[in-house]
Amino acid sequence: KQADRKLRVAFCGLGSYARRVADAMKDSPNCIVAGAISGTPSKLEEWAKKYNFSKENCYSYDTFDNIKNNPNIDAVYVTSTNALHHPHTLKAAKAGKHVICEKPMSVTVKEAEEMIAACKAANVKLLIGYRLHFEPFTRELIRMRASGELGQISFVNATMGFKIGDPNQWRLKKEHAGGGAMMDVGIYAINGARYATGEEPIWVAAQELKTDFEKFKEVDETITWQMGFPSGVVANCATTYNFNNFDRLYVAGNKDYYELYPAFGYGPLKAKTGKGEVNQPVVTHQTVQMTGMADCILNNTPHPNCDGEEGLKDMKIIEAIYQSIANNGAKVMI
Ligand code: NDP
Repeated sequence: KQADRKLRVAFCGLGSYARRVADAMKDSPNCIVAGAISGTPSKLEEWAKKYNFSKENCYSYDTFDNIKNNPNIDAVYVTSTNALHHPHTLKAAKAGKHVICEKPMSVTVKEAEEMIAACKAANVKLLIGYRLHFEPFTRELIRMRASGELGQISFVNATMGFKIGDPNQWRLKKEHAGGGAMMDVGIYAINGARYATGEEPIWVAAQELKTDFEKFKEVDETITWQMGFPSGVVANCATTYNFNNFDRLYVAGNKDYYELYPAFGYGPLKAKTGKGEVNQPVVTHQTVQMTGMADCILNNTPHPNCDGEEGLKDMKIIEAIYQSIANNGAKVMI
């Protein structure tokens, strides 16, 4: 065990989420911000100063490949726009660096498969930024479901969305985002229904609703969908870019229920069962995530369902949802 080694992480794409994770890492004992890749030179300067790393650990998207010659970077955390996750992951893997990549891992199933293959070929790990798998209220749901304390799961309700602002942002451009609310936050409902049941869906059926055809010219605004699981349990889900207070996971079992509200945001999350409020520590999600992921990469410890294969499963479901919408809501087998 490399007990006193810290994972040295370079961030790729220095936007608001990169900052949040980098700031949260100062409370992680086993990882540090050690470099950056950015299209904005002023951000590189600012980051190098703030996190105290050398200019030699700074790259532009054009010089990114040179990171292979840098022995002081162990992993690249891809926090760029969705459509760049695939090219940036491929570059990092080719350079022999472990990869942590934000959700959605890619914008197509094919890209996700290529990312998994590239990391396998380079013998580096690929983890997806599914921070909730490290979060105590979410871990408790998974524990109670797996131990049978909830009984047999019969129904799941999973919803996640928010009212999006600036109509000119990349999240509303298909070329950069790959899709709308579904790609961005609907993925939380999909992932949540999967950890709430411990099963993989075998079919989906989806319906799209749009109220603002100008703002959501290129991407989806609101989608409702159902997912059927092998045991017969059904998840009823929805996502939106058009309203708030839509961040909830409800799991009905024949012995008890588990309700997370809020369920997917940065928290603090809150949960209750038929026995009352669930008591768990409130943590910074990105701190526990990075501590867990650094341990996984440094010491080869198991990860809680957050590798490339898990990301690929969600991408397959997203593609099936879009396919169902294109077929007027027909059931699509996965
Ligand atoms: P931002 O817009 O704040 O940052 C994206 C960064 O990507 C930019 O700052 C820029 O960095 C880089 N970039 C490269 N090309 C472009 C382009 N054409 N347009 C805009 N930016 C570009 O987005 P977020 O930080 O909110 O999101 C980044 C990723 O993180 C997304 O994939 C998102 O889904 C994910 N995310 C995950 C969350 C989670 O809880 N797990 C929460 C929020 C986001 P630079 O100037 O350095 O090149």
